[in-house]
This record gives sequence, structure tokens and C-alpha cells, in this order.
Amino acid sequence: MSDLIHLLPDNIANQIAAGEVIQRPASAVKELLENAVDAGADEIRLIINDAGKSLVQVIDNGKGMSETDARMCFERHATSKISKIDDLFSIRTMGFRGEALASIAAVAQVELKTRRAEDILGTYIEIDNSQVKKQEPCSAPTGTSFAMKNLFFNVPARRNFLKSNASEMRHIVDEFIHVALAFPEILFTLTSNGQEVFHLAKGTLKQRIVQVMGSAYASKLVGVMEQTDYLNIYGFVGKPDAAKKTRGDQYLFVNNRFIKSAYLNHAVMNAYQEMIADQSFPLYVLFIDLDPAQLDINVHPTKQEIKFEDEKIVYAFVQAAVKHALAQYSVTPTLDFDLDPAIQQLEAVSKPFTSENIAAASASNLFHTFTQKHQAHKVESRNELQGWRQYYDPGAGSGAEHDVATGQKENKTEPDFLEVFANQAKTSPLDITDETKPVQLHLSYIMFPTMKGVVMVHQQLAHERVLYERLSDAVTGKPVATQRSLFPATCMLSPADTTLMEELIPDLKLLGYLVEPFGKNSFVIQGTPAGIPQGTESQDIEKLLEAYKHFSPGVACSGKEKLVRAMASRQSIKTGTSLSDQEMRNLIKDLSLCRQPNITIGGNPTYVEFGKDYLEKLFSRP
Ligand code: ADP
Ligand code: MG
Repeated sequence: MSDLIHLLPDNIANQIAAGEVIQRPASAVKELLENAVDAGADEIRLIINDAGKSLVQVIDNGKGMSETDARMCFERHATSKISKIDDLFSIRTMGFRGEALASIAAVAQVELKTRRAEDILGTYIEIDNSQVKKQEPCSAPTGTSFAMKNLFFNVPARRNFLKSNASEMRHIVDEFIHVALAFPEILFTLTSNGQEVFHLAKGTLKQRIVQVMGSAYASKLVGVMEQTDYLNIYGFVGKPDAAKKTRGDQYLFVNNRFIKSAYLNHAVMNAYQEMIADQSFPLYVLFIDLDPAQLDINVHPTKQEIKFEDEKIVYAFVQAAVKHALAQYSVTPTLDFDLDPAIQQLEAVSKPFTSENIAAASASNLFHTFTQKHQAHKVESRNELQGWRQYYDPGAGSGAEHDVATGQKENKTEPDFLEVFANQAKTSPLDITDETKPVQLHLSYIMFPTMKGVVMVHQQLAHERVLYERLSDAVTGKPVATQRSLFPATCMLSPADTTLMEELIPDLKLLGYLVEPFGKNSFVIQGTPAGIPQGTESQDIEKLLEAYKHFSPGVACSGKEKLVRAMASRQSIKTGTSLSDQEMRNLIKDLSLCRQPNITIGGNPTYVEFGKDYLEKLFSRP
């Protein structure tokens, strides 16, 4: 038998390795922009044709390369940024693996033109499929121009894998914005098919945010700036009122690198708790700087996830810094719960379970933590909260509090307030009849008695669950009916949202929205889902896009699924909405018919049942 193993030719090995780094035109955009930043440029121009499928070009005025370096930079593991293993623990440049250019050269046609300030002539190099086709001296401005043409021309399988131009362009704009936000002191332009889409002059971070996200934010930004020995946090967050009407954007950077972190996003959102309506998104552009030794550098640099040495500390600091900033600008809570006088007497009972109290307690704890710099670990000692959590979330505790009284005890101390809900007993928590008289509390909860005790339904979360199941059925089976608009509304979107919208149009149709492109960045809404009142459809659509963009389910899910979830949360009855008895009963019935009635798709309970035993305990002395 002959031997079987042989070495792959270089160009095939390179193509395989390239797959990790260059997945789509936007990956090249990221790498080339970062190289330009690392080269010390203060003007960087990005030129795109055909959503990057035919051309991605980055022109910078950075330090340029020598003739040898220009040739060398395409070799795998060719980098000027590290030379020994220790360097990895202090890395401050955007790149360091020396993989990007080698990868690009393996899967595209490349033209490089570069000149250092000290050289009279620059170097021009053409590479195809990792093979140098041409190299010659040329005249060139100081800096580097790197053009990647016909991505995946030599890997048709990958080329076929690329998405629509709209989709690829959106990824490109995302990468562009990430780098542009991280370096406001650099001028950036983006030209797509000959049209300048962004022109971002040098300025402050605040100016850059306004350039990218719109002048509506100019007066809506609150500065964040906290310095500790462990890390620094700075940037801007949107005032809570901007979260409601303006489209929010959320960006987090660690050592100037854009990252995605559902965990830290949660920290920021938590700081806004009780200040913004549910399902609205405050803007934030936050930068965390810390010693690179506190980061796991083995995480692949093209990935946007990041590993911190101690994630809990970072969480506590982020949350406290944002809270602190919001408090300093004396932004007061805007949510105000009206208490129904008929059930005023319930206040004392319901108090320990309100999310306000839990939030307030945890907040003060965290704030305390933050002000005592070096004791961030204190955040873990939230023991006093644990008891509350158990009552609040039936799954969390021992369960003893919620068990039905099994008859050993007489109901001799049945509290008076239950008389408010005097009604017949029920067999299943959500199994109600037309005689049930539900009570709405704080315009947020629906309360009614059951055999076991009393059930509290969260009106918004419950409705979200109902809509989620209905809309999921719509995209997989029968579409939602559309009602044609007599006076179709138009909406204007940012370039980034325009590409997103183009991509979503077919799925929106299944969900009842008939949207048509209408020239430069605008769309006409020809129809809306039957049953949803018309009149606010353009805001609805914009908010939906927003929810879609910022939706981070924590697990990978399809575009359709994301849209369904975003729409369910968008269209749900919000807390603060008054409901009639019939509306409450309908909601409870709809919920009871759900496949999974007790939990939202995000994992929150839709209702909680308090057992009689537990209620009794509240009134008895220890
Ligand atoms: P890395 O950025 O990880 O070092 P790359 O493959 O992206 O690897 O680039 C290889 C090397 O090429 C860089 O280390 C740098 O020395 C050089 N280089 C790349 N792009 C530029 C540029 N725009 N200007 C100057 N030098 C560059
Ligand atoms: Mg690089």
C-alpha cells in the first residue's frame, strides 16, 4: 500500500485558513480599516462597489511600507506588531496576528500601492490567488491604498454563499461605524458605488456620535467618565427620554475594539431600570479601557466576543458608571405608577415584591460597591435580595412558600384583602370563566384569585408570549392579513437602516406589513397588519427596526425569528395601558391557549402564582 498523506499546496492551505478571517466583504473592511488605523493615519477613505463583492478599497495617509514590507505583508504570520510571546499581553494595536492580508490575498485579487514619507518612489504590487502577478516602483502619495477585487473569484462555493447586496452592505456599514466611533480623531469617508455615504470630519467623540447617529442626539447625550485603578469607562449614554422617540444605538468598546456582550449590555440596561419604558433602547457609546493582561487574548481577534479575567467586576463598574452619570445629570425616573384607589390597601402587601424595590436595593448596593473602588467583589453579597427573589420568582426558591395548603390548617386567618377578589375557586391558574373579575394593578398586572391563592399576570409579558406564538405561526404557515392604507405613510431611514429594511421586506409582508422602496433611503408603507390601528405605522416600523437591530437573544437565531420576537415585543400591550375587564379576560384566555404560557421567549415569567400558605406567612410573626 502506498502512503496516503500529502501536503496541501500553499494556495489551498491559505484559502482554507482564510475562511476563518474573511467570511464576507465586511470582514475585509474591518481588517483593512484597522490596518490603516494601526498605521497611524488620520484620514481614511473606504470605497465600495457592489456591496464589496467587486471592490473594497481602503486609502490611508499612514506611515506606508517599504518595498520589502510591501511584499512581506502578504505572508502568513507577517506582522510588525508583535515579535515575542510577551507582547501578546500588552497588545494595543488593532491587529497582531499577521493573518489578514495573507487571507485576503488567498481569496481575491489584490492591488497594493504604498509609499513611506522618506521614500521618493512607492511600491505597486498585484496579487491573485496568493501569487504575485506584478511588482514595480510607482509614484504615490504617502500612505497606503489597498484594493481587494472580486472577492472569492477563485472559491465559487464561498462566493455563492454571500448574501444580497443589501445585506452585505449593512455589514460593511456596521464595521465602518464601529471603527469610526472608536477613532473620532480620524477623518473617515465611505463611498459606495460612486456616492459618498458618510463624510466624518475629525472631531470629538460627541461630535462623531452626532455625525453618525443624527443631530437629534446633540442635546440628548450624557457624558460618562469614571476612572479606577482597575479600569476606565468613558463615553456617552442617551438621556432616557431620547430612548423613547429617537432610534437608539448601542455600542460597547473594550480597548477601542468593538465588542458584543449581552452581559454588559444588560449592565447598561439595568442602570436605566425604571427610567425608560420597557422595550425601548437608550443610546450608548461606551469605552472600557483596561490592562490588556486582564483580557483573554486567545479569543480570536475577528470575533466580537471577549473574555474578561473578571467579568463581574466589569459588570458592576459599567452599571454603576452609567447610573452615576444619569444621576449626576439629575435625570429623574419618568415612569409613574398610578395606584388604583380600590386596591390601595394592597400596597403594603405588594410592596416587597415590586421590581422597583428590588432594583432600588440592588442599585444602591452596586453604587455603594462602585464608590468603594477596590471592593468590587462585594457585588456578590446580595444575600438580602435572595429572599425576595424567591418570592418573586416561583422557580427560584425552595417552593415551600408557594405550595398549596394541604388542608392541615384552617383558613382562619385568611386576610381581608382577598375579599376584594371574592370569587369562585379555580382548578388551573389560567382557567377562568366569564364571571371572573380580574383586577388591574399599577396598570401593569392583572390579578385574580385561584383555588391555590392568587395569580398575578404581567400584562405586557403575557401579551408578548401570545403574539410571539401567533406571529411564529404567521411566518411558518399562514401569513397575517394586511389592511391596505388609504393614505400610505412614508418613512425615511439612515443608509444603514435602508439596507436592513430592503432585506426585511419579504418577511415583513408575511407579518402583514406591505412596504415598498421609494427612492433614496425612503419607503412607502402600503399596508399594515389587520387589527393593528393605523396612523403610527412609520414610527412603528422604525421602532421595529430598532428592536430588530438591538435584539440580542443570547442564542443564534434566524432573521425571521428575530423579526418575530422584535415585532411581538413591539406590538404587545405595554405596561401603563388601562385594560377593561373583557380585555383582561381575553388576554388571560389567549395566554392559557399558548403552547408555553408561563414564560416569555426571553425567559421571564408571564405570571406568578402566590400560594395561600405564602400569603398567610406574610401576616404571621416569626
Ligand atoms: P496584522 O495587522 O495582524 O499585523 P495584517 O495581515 O493585517 O496583520 O498586516 C500585516 C502587516 O502589514 C502589518 O503588521 C503592517 O506592518 C503592514 N500593514 C498592513 N496594512 C498596512 C497599512 N495600511 N499601512 C502600513 N502598513 C500596513
Ligand atoms: Mg491587521
